[in-house]
Amino acid sequence: MAKVLIIGAGGVGQVVAHKCALLPAVFSEITLASRTESKCLKIAQQISETHGRSIQTAQVDADNVPELVALIRKFQPQLVINVALPYQDLHIMDACLEAGVNYLDTANYEPLDNAKFEYKWQWAYQEKFAKAGLMALLGSGFDPGATNVYTAWIAKHYFDEVHTLDIIDVNGGNHGYPFATNFNPEINIREVTAECQHWEGGKFVTTPAMSLKQSFTCPDGVGTYNIYRMYHEELESLTKNFPTLKRAQFWMSFGESYLKHLEVLGNVGMTRIDPVLFQGQQIVPIQFLKALLPDPSTLGPRTVGKTCIGCHVTGLKDGKPRAIFVYNICDHQACYREVLSQAISYTTGVPAMIGAKMMLEGKWAKAGVWNMEQLDPDPFMADMNLYGLPWQVIEDPGFDLV
Ligand code: NDP
Repeated sequence: MAKVLIIGAGGVGQVVAHKCALLPAVFSEITLASRTESKCLKIAQQISETHGRSIQTAQVDADNVPELVALIRKFQPQLVINVALPYQDLHIMDACLEAGVNYLDTANYEPLDNAKFEYKWQWAYQEKFAKAGLMALLGSGFDPGATNVYTAWIAKHYFDEVHTLDIIDVNGGNHGYPFATNFNPEINIREVTAECQHWEGGKFVTTPAMSLKQSFTCPDGVGTYNIYRMYHEELESLTKNFPTLKRAQFWMSFGESYLKHLEVLGNVGMTRIDPVLFQGQQIVPIQFLKALLPDPSTLGPRTVGKTCIGCHVTGLKDGKPRAIFVYNICDHQACYREVLSQAISYTTGVPAMIGAKMMLEGKWAKAGVWNMEQLDPDPFMADMNLYGLPWQVIEDPGFDLV
């Protein structure tokens, strides 16, 4: 029985709040706080109507550390679940240290004025959290998150030594808009337009964004999609924690319409993250673009199709080569029926709830700052099957990956 404070009432925050509310034996009291309290109140009302449970709400600017510390002290949670934006990570970690509570997030810190995410800023908190006897769990979404746990679980149960890792994230869903992003547009576009980095021969190799693609056929009839190699934050921690990896790559599917719109928006300067002067006022083009695009939390009713996200690992067992693919398939409309969200928010929010559950139940209790693959993958994998993200294993799938 524990109190949790969830920060952020967007698409992901909605799923985390619903899923925590469905488990009163673990999450005995829930407060949902965000910059705009009306969004928290709307989610609280949904939860009351669909699950008959009441949660508390609050207004907070998570970048204001004293304000956040006051909220934490007032509510006294055991854990703060950060599903606001990556820009808030360090401020929320600072507030957790000051108020003496544990911390969890789903995306690593990124400075507002530089589209470059790296773990170095959050790893630098290792000693502070360890000394305070507190735990910070980093990247407990799907990717990062479940993909880190899949990798650790595959390495633990199937290999003596892992050699290659390909993380494949396919969204076969269709929301019917010519262009919309499935999670925060600003974060999504910053990530997708960044130069690609993959791990090869003991170092990260940089190539232009979206410069390598291949066709991938998902299992279980989800379909065949073009997947593009890009950089994703879990590559940084996984290559550090699995030093026998000779190559590690991340692939994501994109439709033609999405890529064409992104190219045009980039060409005309609408994805710029630096301020420009417009009619006497400084505006940041990507923030203005976000205001024009559909809010990802409203895509649920209109998105149909499935996601397929998995990890393909090769390596050696008893001296013999083998390959393993572990994956989840998630149906957008099934997610909507359960928690009124599409599958991208769902596949992020469920692992956030499970990571929180692992910490609160003491299955993952370790002072310091940790990435998901540093903890025992077995209880997390078991809960993925119980709480909406069941996984499958294919041994030697015969994929012909680049
Ligand atoms: P949204 O933009 O839908 O929601 C973000 C929420 O955070 C909004 O409610 C926003 O408030 C709130 N917020 C922003 N700034 C502050 C602040 N200073 N103080 C308090 N609240 C604030 O984003 P998503 O729900 O799509 O994404 C949430 C997080 O999940 C992001 O960090 C994203 O990168 C991560 N993510 C992780 C994935 C994974 O698999 N690991 C996949 C997808 C997303 P307001 O409403 O006022 O704007």
